[in-house]
Amino acid sequence: MEAYPQTLMEFEKQFATEEACRLYLERLRWPDGFRCPRCGGTEAWQTSRGLWLCRQCRRQTSVTVGTIFDRSRLPLPLWFRAMWHVTNQKNGASALTIQRLLGLGSYQTAWAWLHKLRRAMVRPGRDRLEGVVEADESYLGSRKPGKPGRGASGKALVLLAIQLLPGDEIGRIRLAHVSDASGPSLVGALETMVTSGSEIRTDGWSGYNELESRGYRHIVVRRSAEVGEDLLPACHRVASLLKRWLLGTHQGAVRPEHLASYLDEFTFRFNRRTSASRGKLFYRLAQQAIRVEPAPYAKLIRPNL
Ligand SMILES: [Zn+2]
Repeated sequence: MEAYPQTLMEFEKQFATEEACRLYLERLRWPDGFRCPRCGGTEAWQTSRGLWLCRQCRRQTSVTVGTIFDRSRLPLPLWFRAMWHVTNQKNGASALTIQRLLGLGSYQTAWAWLHKLRRAMVRPGRDRLEGVVEADESYLGSRKPGKPGRGASGKALVLLAIQLLPGDEIGRIRLAHVSDASGPSLVGALETMVTSGSEIRTDGWSGYNELESRGYRHIVVRRSAEVGEDLLPACHRVASLLKRWLLGTHQGAVRPEHLASYLDEFTFRFNRRTSASRGKLFYRLAQQAIRVEPAPYAKLIRPNL
């Protein structure tokens, strides 16, 4: 099923009630019919309030149990509006915008919602990049003078992996917040982002030396660049788009401990940048939001959480 609204009018009509939203989520979560999250049973009684009672283990459950909507006291239509707004704004939405738009009582609630939605943007077990990949790190914030490259302290370090298509067009991306530019950090992160056997292009930084022994074809573009020369143009381009987005949509107000989830949102948007339909983006987000906690994979790429 890939049914999604195309316009705001369609959206408003389709998701006006709690029940309509719940039925939509049920179709996304159980496309082949109800499945008990405890015992896997497929037969259940439905109560009038949208709860399911498993005939086998007698567990009572609802479609939102174990998902980001679990235990939310606010109505589903509000959540749906948040998802619609987030996916329909080209650059996403800040917590302040969402709070005002939905008339939420607190900024904290809006902030927490956006945070949960970002976590849903990481597809559980999503595939890694393959083929030709350009990799580089970038410090968020300006680099400290006199310590070019890898010496800056107190800045968040982001590792970029950019898939290159024929003609050096930029394909899909993966981003990771890494603790430092050491070999174990960089190569360890790249192993979660890029399929073994792929070609990875980097500059001459020694942190990438182990790539070859981990099963990658490692191409060192060149040891050092002339002033103003751009050895890894795809990484450079994506890094500047990322910085602009963090400054623009989020006014740069991103704490290091939350950076990973912003990187997830940026990746979600960037990898779907050619998607013609914003409705489809909404559908993808709803689909991923209703999946049960993607914890194992999220922990793998974000060890601090
Ligand atoms: Zn059961």
